[in-house]
Amino acid sequence: MNQEEIAAKNYVQNVYDTVVKRNPNETEFHQAVKEILDSLVPVIAKHPKYKQHGILERMVEPERLISFRVPWVDDQGAVQVNRGFRVQFNSAIGPYKGGLRFHPSVNASIIKFLGFEQTLKNSLTGQPIGGGKGGSDFDPKGKSEGEVMRFTQSFMTELYKYIGSDIDVPAGDIGVSGREIGYMFGQYKRIRGGNEAGVLTGKNILFGGSLARTEATGYGAVYFVNEMLQSKGLSFEDSTVVISGSGNVSIYAIQKATQLGAKVVACSDSNGYVYDKDGIKFETVQRLKEVERKRISEYVNEHPSAVYVEGCQNIWTIPCDIALPCATQNEINEASARLLVANGVKAIGEGANMPSTLEAIDVFLQNDVLFGPAKAANAGGVAVSALEMAQNSMRYQWHFHEVDDKLHEIMKNIYRNSVAAAQEYGYPGNLVVGANIAGFIKVADSMIAQGVI
Ligand code: GLU
Repeated sequence: MNQEEIAAKNYVQNVYDTVVKRNPNETEFHQAVKEILDSLVPVIAKHPKYKQHGILERMVEPERLISFRVPWVDDQGAVQVNRGFRVQFNSAIGPYKGGLRFHPSVNASIIKFLGFEQTLKNSLTGQPIGGGKGGSDFDPKGKSEGEVMRFTQSFMTELYKYIGSDIDVPAGDIGVSGREIGYMFGQYKRIRGGNEAGVLTGKNILFGGSLARTEATGYGAVYFVNEMLQSKGLSFEDSTVVISGSGNVSIYAIQKATQLGAKVVACSDSNGYVYDKDGIKFETVQRLKEVERKRISEYVNEHPSAVYVEGCQNIWTIPCDIALPCATQNEINEASARLLVANGVKAIGEGANMPSTLEAIDVFLQNDVLFGPAKAANAGGVAVSALEMAQNSMRYQWHFHEVDDKLHEIMKNIYRNSVAAAQEYGYPGNLVVGANIAGFIKVADSMIAQGVI
């Protein structure tokens, strides 16, 4: 390490220590900051301007964090209260953009880690979108249609004050899909008294949604992994794939991987996983989860070739060539990573946000497993959200294949830019470092150009 690198490392450590001190107990946020800051050391060492302009200190502090009460009445007539959040993390390159998550684990730490990741992810897409994230600790599991609607309307009755098509544009994430976006759009329209289509993305195709938005995150993740595989002369054809989760990302990753000739042998939900030696049938998972809103264990009733196993973590014991974690944060720990490596995994593509712990990432990189980090591999969803905003501005709708082609091109660009950044800064083949650096530079240079704000 030369002088500049040692100084850069100390500077990065100081910024990280401040984050830990200022945000006590927010372990997920600390984890995301650490992963990103560590990989920026060679950039800071090479370009003194970032330190001079206090870019790291500013970037780790969200522009704004809004927290609010969400009161609603359940089916028994009892008043319930949840907490809502929106973090407006960084607006250097466009309006804040990022999903809303409804899950009992949601707190300030989770929302901040997601918002920070989103800032660099959105930059990587090449689209003009800043970073934001939000959600609530509301648990949609077991709630009736009416309860979900009343909660969601109440959530928007507070959130509407802070969003707008040129200000902050939310979308879905875990627990928030087209149904919830529809209720939120209806409520926003009612309060504002006008049809501002671009205020939310992931809308129904009937009222301003984009074709291929539903498929975008899963398809994008597979397109990204395909680029990694091709660089080593590999492909999805005849490979065995394990995809955790059975939500929006997972469902369309199953479909695209299968279309490319892979056999997807397992998927999961928070209770357990299904293994189907004949290959998971995309249509069944899609209907069970999107239409019937059932548990994944029901899959085995329709497919005698499949077995159901309790405990979602055990899905990583299944030998596979390609693993796509598409469920949630920290779902692959060091032990699971070692098991995957011992079983011969060749590539990992993170469909979820931060699904691998820092230790798991090290295991993959040290064992030369192709590793597609979340902010690159799952950027397809938000990229098509940006295309939805563009279509809303034009009051126009592109064909499915037009959006899908654009998505494919965006994923290839993210791959190329991440590879190039990793190479330029001395970490050839390390896409964790490459994606962080490529995402960072655009945001940082925009911040410098806009003065100390
Ligand atoms: N929640 C998705 C993500 O993590 C999509 C966000 C969006 O479309 O705004 O990127």
